Amino acid sequence: MEKHPIQVHEGKGVKLPFDPSKLYYRLLPNGEKIHRKWLSYSIELNKVYCSCCMAFGGKDNRDSTFITGHDVTPKHIYKSLETHENSHYHELAAKTAFQCLIGLLIKYRYIEISILLHRNIDIYY
Ligand SMILES: [Zn+2]
Repeated sequence: MEKHPIQVHEGKGVKLPFDPSKLYYRLLPNGEKIHRKWLSYSIELNKVYCSCCMAFGGKDNRDSTFITGHDVTPKHIYKSLETHENSHYHELAAKTAFQCLIGLLIKYRYIEISILLHRNIDIYY
């Protein structure tokens, strides 16, 4: 399986069927742009995926087209993406992903602390 997320950019003969600045970024009402890091695009299949729902989505969301691959139609893709982004399933997957990240941070911090303790032990004993 390909590694997600992949974000293809234009150039070197690559022409995308969408505007990358509109698809890869979410525009907030205050004008702020948020990078949709979870968004994946396959140029071979011309489909977009949500790597967040792929990895952390619940069983009942398995039929979501953003997991199996959502066809890119230039007219509708921005709206479908927005609908997915605001869906309950995506929100749940994003929450799980966030908790997982926090878990990892705690784990690494723990390792860091134990290394520090070991160093201290080496120094003082
Ligand atoms: Zn999603």
